Amino acid sequence: MEQKVQNIKRRFSVMRDLFLQNEEIRELLDRLGSAIKASHRCMVELGIVDICRECAAEGNCCCRKWVENEYGEEILLINLLLGVELPSRRAIPDACFFLTPTGCMLKAREVICVDFLCDRIKKIGHKNIVKLQNIEGEELEMLFLLEEKIGAIMRLAETRK
Ligand code: SF4
Ligand code: SF4
Repeated sequence: MEQKVQNIKRRFSVMRDLFLQNEEIRELLDRLGSAIKASHRCMVELGIVDICRECAAEGNCCCRKWVENEYGEEILLINLLLGVELPSRRAIPDACFFLTPTGCMLKAREVICVDFLCDRIKKIGHKNIVKLQNIEGEELEMLFLLEEKIGAIMRLAETRK
């Protein structure tokens, strides 16, 4: 994973301006940033952030190492475009590469992380889960559109090499 992240950072330094010159990408980044904030606000209001904090303090960790393999180049580039500083090494042994002692460092997260509901969280009730999923729907839609757009720009750049 260290090597993958290093390669992505290198690609970002070359392609950053090309991405940001694209109006559609800038607009999608704005909308994704707002959607991520709305999802987080909802998680705070529903008590999920507190539940996870308590759970982590008890020594539990649901951010397994294998999940990092679900993260491809596009979403990591999107995180860099959102101002996230990707780590150069794993902070927590045997856990996901993007986990830190204070939680996940990523802003844009894959559906597997956004949609994850453990039994402890399911206790907030069906109505609240539906409310959260509706709000997260916008985040996932913006992420999908951005991944498509970033991927298309990268493929085009490859053909012009
Ligand atoms: S999602 Fe569930 S298992 Fe993971 S930290 Fe939160 S409460 Fe714990
Ligand atoms: S939420 Fe973040 S730290 Fe946890 S598994 Fe997903 S990417 Fe990794």
